[in-house]
Amino acid sequence: MQKRIVIIGGGIVGLATAMQLHEKLPDVKIVILEKENDVARHQSGHNSGVIHSGIYYKPGSNKAKNCTEGYAKMLRFCDEQNIPYQLIGKLIVANDEKQKIKLDQIYNNGLNNGLKNIKVLKKEEIQNLEPNVRSKYAIHVPQAGIVDYKLVSQKMRSCLEGQGVEVLTNKKAIAIDSVHQVLRVACEDESLYEADFLVNCAGLQSDRICALAGINSPYRIIPFKGVYYYLNENKKEIVKSLIYPVPDPNFPFLGIHYTKLMNGQQTLGPNAILAFDRENYANQDINWKDLQSILSYKGFWKLIGKHWNVGLTEYFRNYSKHYFAFKASEMTPGIVATDLTESSSGIRAQVIDRDGNMVDDFAVLKAKQMIHICNAPSPAATASLSIGDQIAQMITEGIS
Ligand SMILES: Cc1cc2nc3c(=O)[nH]c(=O)nc-3n(C[C@H](O)[C@H](O)[C@H](O)COP(=O)(O)OP(=O)(O)OC[C@H]3O[C@@H](n4cnc5c(N)ncnc54)[C@H](O)[C@@H]3O)c2cc1C
Repeated sequence: MQKRIVIIGGGIVGLATAMQLHEKLPDVKIVILEKENDVARHQSGHNSGVIHSGIYYKPGSNKAKNCTEGYAKMLRFCDEQNIPYQLIGKLIVANDEKQKIKLDQIYNNGLNNGLKNIKVLKKEEIQNLEPNVRSKYAIHVPQAGIVDYKLVSQKMRSCLEGQGVEVLTNKKAIAIDSVHQVLRVACEDESLYEADFLVNCAGLQSDRICALAGINSPYRIIPFKGVYYYLNENKKEIVKSLIYPVPDPNFPFLGIHYTKLMNGQQTLGPNAILAFDRENYANQDINWKDLQSILSYKGFWKLIGKHWNVGLTEYFRNYSKHYFAFKASEMTPGIVATDLTESSSGIRAQVIDRDGNMVDDFAVLKAKQMIHICNAPSPAATASLSIGDQIAQMITEGIS
């Protein structure tokens, strides 16, 4: 009998996993169940659109491996599918000696992760490249780029459908029966899908899918929202490449940065504040189920105990456009609040462990006939085809 694999989640990771699975196991029936009416409606369609090079990540980590491999696979996929992208390069900037130490660590990570042509620049070289950026030191990462991941996801969907993979939308998984030999996934519309293997790629809801499958996961998703601003017409050309600050090593977020979108818009963002609804991009309204999930988790209170001061600063920056602009002006003097118009937002599925640590690396839980992708934060869009390849390999070994 034909084997069946069900993937829950039609974000870029679920789609990329299906692509890699189909390549390795062409005779297996693959079905993606997506609860929204299209693919990429959450993180995969609400992000910075950066093709990350892999410079930041600790050598040997899953992020380092998957980002560098995923980068090459992503560019190949875009070339094959005529998806436009631009390798506009990136500057990571540092303004004092303390930041310079972190910058050097990032540079060494880049070298150890096999990145070519990255360079530490002096003030004059920075000025030549980006006259409006004020920075004592910077790393130039020429291979960093931009792409529209929503478009990438939609192309993945059409490739999959062309190969006979079913990408079913409006299919919210609400129950998983893992007691019998054949797994059963029940959806809200009362449809039922049987599978020999299940992959959880549910992003912001991945901990809930673990719970449905009876997995006692050590992780909880705590959603962090990030708001982006558009640069108004008069400041749109303020920078040419991607401009990032040195990230705070205590947090998995990269800091507010300048990103050009593929449509030519220049954005600044995102910040990172606690969200009270995992999927509400419009405002800070409360989803009581999501709030209860945050407040009832001991790991959350431990996190607050450690980082309440950073949290408060981020809230201040969120509610004060002036402060947001002021922080940006540390990289690019002259930016003021009136140069910015609020644009979109994204919500990160940030995994927190029971000790209140923000889990930085990609994390996967294996169980009988199941793989749960529990943590796939940035740069998982860049890395998606490599993550998918790794998952497909694990399943190929288990299923045949
Ligand atoms: C603000 C922000 C900026 C980022 N910037 C970048 C960047 O520049 N470069 C980069 O590489 N990465 C970036 N990332 C990270 C990247 O976007 C994510 O890591 C990636 O999109 C994760 O993909 P995913 O498929 O795991 O999750 P998602 O895209 O969230 O997909 C999960 C899917 O599962 C579905 N689902 C959930 N529950 C169910 C259910 N019960 N039944 C059926 N379906 C369900 C959801 O509807 C959703 O479509 C950014 C992320 C954010 C939030």
